[in-house]
This record gives sequence, C-alpha cells and structure tokens, in this order.
Amino acid sequence: MTTAKAYIQATFETLKARNGHEAEFLQAAEEFLSTLEPVFEQHPEYIEENILARITEPERVISFRVPWVDREGKVQVNRGYRVQFNSAVGPYKGGLRFHPTVNQSILKFLGFEQIFKNVLTGLPIGGGKGGSDFDPKGKTDAEVMRFCQSFMTELQKYIGPSQDVPAGDIGVGGREIGYLYGQYKRLNQFDAGVLTGKPLGFGGSLIRPEATGYGLVYYTQEMLKANGESFAGKKVVVSGSGNVAQYALQKATELGATVISVSDSNGYVIDENGIDFDLLQDIKEKRRARLTEYAAEKPTATYHEGSVWTYAEKYDIALPCATQNEIDGAAAKRLVAQGVFCVSEGANMPSDLEAIAVYKENGVYYGPAKAANAGGVAVSALEMSQNSLRLSWTREEVDTRLQGIMTNIFNTAKTTAEKYDLGKDYLAGANIAAFENVADAMIAQGIV
Ligand code: NDP
Repeated sequence: MTTAKAYIQATFETLKARNGHEAEFLQAAEEFLSTLEPVFEQHPEYIEENILARITEPERVISFRVPWVDREGKVQVNRGYRVQFNSAVGPYKGGLRFHPTVNQSILKFLGFEQIFKNVLTGLPIGGGKGGSDFDPKGKTDAEVMRFCQSFMTELQKYIGPSQDVPAGDIGVGGREIGYLYGQYKRLNQFDAGVLTGKPLGFGGSLIRPEATGYGLVYYTQEMLKANGESFAGKKVVVSGSGNVAQYALQKATELGATVISVSDSNGYVIDENGIDFDLLQDIKEKRRARLTEYAAEKPTATYHEGSVWTYAEKYDIALPCATQNEIDGAAAKRLVAQGVFCVSEGANMPSDLEAIAVYKENGVYYGPAKAANAGGVAVSALEMSQNSLRLSWTREEVDTRLQGIMTNIFNTAKTTAEKYDLGKDYLAGANIAAFENVADAMIAQGIV
C-alpha cells in the first residue's frame, strides 16, 4: 500500500515535472501538501481517489489578448487570464489582479489558495483567480477604463453570477470594478451578482472595502485571545498601504494597538505615534500618490527606502499586507530577534517556506493567509447573497457576520490542529480542515 508520505512526495514530483517553470504555484502547493500527511494516514480513501492529483490541476485556465489604445493613440497589448481552479463547493470565486508581475504561475498559486480559503468561510464558493500584467499605476482614468472594457469584452464569455464571480485584488479597486461591471452590463443582461467589490451605489455591500483588513484583525484577535494575549498596547508593523493594509491598520488601532508603519514597493514610513489613517487614505485613495507624501506632511514620520522587514527596532506583531514572498527566512529570524511573537497574513503567501519554518521553530503565533485574510471573500459572498435577495444589509449586520465567520475560521483551524495532535500549528489545522471539505465534496460528485 502507498504510504501517506510516499503519496505526497510522488504527487509533488509529478507537479514539479509538469509545472517546473511555475515557482509560485509550486511553492503554494508544497506549503499545502507538506501539512497533509496526518490526513492521509487516517483516511487512505483520499489516496485511493487520487484527490491530490485532481485538486492540484485547475479545471480550466483561460488566457487571452487584451488590446487597448493609450492616451497617445498607440495600440497596447496586455495578457489577460482567468484560472477556474475548483468548483466542487460552488461557483468559482476569486479576485482579479492587475500588476506587471502577473503571470500564469502567480494566478495559479492564488487560485489554488483561494479554493481552501473559500471553503473555510463556510460559504458555498469554489476557487478561482484572474488578472492581467496591465499596470494601472500612472495611467489616466480613461486609459484604465479602455483597458477594463477590453479585458471584460473577453472575460464575460466565461463568467456569470452562478458560474464564476470575480472581485478585486492588487491594482483592482472600486474604480476598476466599476468599469468592468459597466462593460459586462453592456454586453449581457443586467445581473449585479457577476462581480463583487462593487461601489455602494450599484449593488456593493457595506463593509466590503474594509472586509479583508478588518477580517485579518478579527482573526488575529481570536488567535491572540486563545493564547492569553490581545492587541491592546502592542506595537504593530503593517506592510503595504493599499486596501488590506489601510483597514487592518484602522481596526488594529481601534483595538488599542499602535501601528507604527506602512509601506509600498519603494519604501516604508515609520511613525512611532501611530499611522494617521485619514491622511493615509487621502494620499492613497484620493490623490493616488506615494508614501513619500505622508512623511513630507507628518512631522513625526520618517521615510526609508527598501523593505519594512529590514526595520530593526523592537515590536510585537507583524501584519504583512503587501504581496507574496515579502518575508524570507532571514527576515523572519530578524523579526523573532526583535521580539515579534505573532505574524498574521493579510497578503497572500507573504511568508516564504523558510520563514514559515522559522515561525514554527520559535513558537510564533502564525495566522496563515488562507485563514486570516478570508474576510474579503466572505463579505464578497455576502454581497452575492444581498444581490440575489435584492436587499442591502446594514453595516452592523455585515460586520457582525464577518466577525462570526472569522471566529469560526480560527476555531476550525485550532480544533482541527488539536484533533490531529498538531498543537498550535494553525497552518496545518486550516489546511487539513479545508482539504477534507473540498475532498469530500469532490468524492461525492464522482470523477469529474
Ligand atoms: P492594493 O493594490 O490595494 O495594495 C497593494 C499594496 O501592496 C500597495 O501598497 C503596493 O505598493 C504593495 N505592493 C504590491 N506589490 C508589491 C511588491 N512587489 N513589493 C512591495 N510592495 C508591493 O492591493 P490589496 O491591498 O487589495 O492587496 C494586498 C494583498 O492582499 C495581496 O497579496 C492580495 O492578494 C491580498 N488580498 C487582498 C484581498 C482584497 O480583498 N483586496 C483579499 C485577500 C487577500 P505599490 O503601490 O508601490 O505597488
């Protein structure tokens, strides 16, 4: 009989042979597979059904040309994608990323993570992800609109409210979702539920912009509480300064923490008095400007080039909210030496495999992305429900549901880790709980 370990190894070898050039996807798969041995030991039926080979292969990957005309009248061509990874639990759901680094590997890693994140919310949604190597930075509104219209002209063939429901991610906020939705509506019958993260005026949900950041802090609060800790009086470093970072900073501050930093891809700001949420939002959302402006306008703040994870002073909690692989093994060791006892992920896969090993060796409370940042997709699913019901729930109602979902996700990760004798390994707990749910749904639906 194949042992659990041999099965996982053989599956990973095949994955590497088939997807050798997809480093980010292989990293996400390795992180996930490395935690599943206890499940296969207890449930050989998953090996007999060869679930790993099936779950690591997307149901479909769509790639397409996106031609558009820039402000000088020149024709530009970008590449668009949609990865429809797994629909065992429900329609594909996952954001669109517009960033020059986007490629198939990055979208496959994000789509793969999304399967398990979505099932952890307890809502009936499958996993997908999409995007383009288009860079909205420095473009005019009209250029962004023309790009979004061209992108949606092709994407609309593959999505629908009961089929595949995209949302935002890096580079895709309310403005982009508005243009994408306008073009979808022009080409199809009206159906608000085809995209989430819509502005409030046409089917958006209250708390959706805040959901990932708030959800991250709610999850982290539960993890801290379970270990006799809280945010009150703690020094926190947040990376990134976009959607997730802004609202994580706001909620952590509300709970009594001092968030001393935010960052972007050029550098970071330190303000020991706590980052000013209103000024940050004004600079990032209204002016679409850089963090250097924050430091220029705030006498207590200083600006530094490079990664915020090189900041050398003591603090307590790290909330990475920028992008994948921001924290490597060396940075993780520095964090531990600086006194950081909790790392909770707003971004997707911000810690590389070595960093995760460092957290584990040092007993750092670790909130893995697929559990800790599931608040965004959870409220997206609530937006879909409101669209179907033709109702809008109040801010309090959505926020209460979000808190309930994040508490459940933490409890699921914790109790599953305990059930398998894995102590405080919340990563393994979340992975195993999510895997079992998706695998059972796949088995029940036959070989499809
Ligand atoms: P935004 O586009 O709003 O902000 C992204 C932030 O990250 C910016 O500050 C950006 O800086 C920084 N950043 C992007 N790429 C890099 C890079 N290569 N190096 C350093 N900094 C970088 O995106 P979001 O806040 O929506 O997303 C942030 C993370 O959260 C992503 O990993 C995303 O997948 C994840 N996430 C988002 C969800 C959502 O609901 N929006 C849901 C779940 C996860 P700059 O301006 O210089 O590019």
